[in-house]
Amino acid sequence: MGFEYAMIAVLFGLSTGFIGRAKGSSFFIWFMVGAVLPLLGLIAVIAYRSEKAEPERQCPNCRKVVKLYVQVCPRCGTDLFLPDPSEVRQPAGR
Ligand SMILES: [Zn+2]
Repeated sequence: MGFEYAMIAVLFGLSTGFIGRAKGSSFFIWFMVGAVLPLLGLIAVIAYRSEKAEPERQCPNCRKVVKLYVQVCPRCGTDLFLPDPSEVRQPAGR
């Protein structure tokens, strides 16, 4: 019984880790999540949004590149409103 549970935890850990890594995150962190929370971890990594897939734009004040959902520039504190579509960078490969 314990052995079977360990097998399931490892299998879920591996698949969760591979999905996490494919999304640009850490294999090890997602392996742990998948092993500790077998089904929930897998659902979480599937729902997890890859940072690399987020559109980006530049802060108009200090030119720092930030994700589109960032509302205040982390470098200079400027309020960032929805930018002109021409300023939004779509990541390559989508
Ligand atoms: Zn800024």
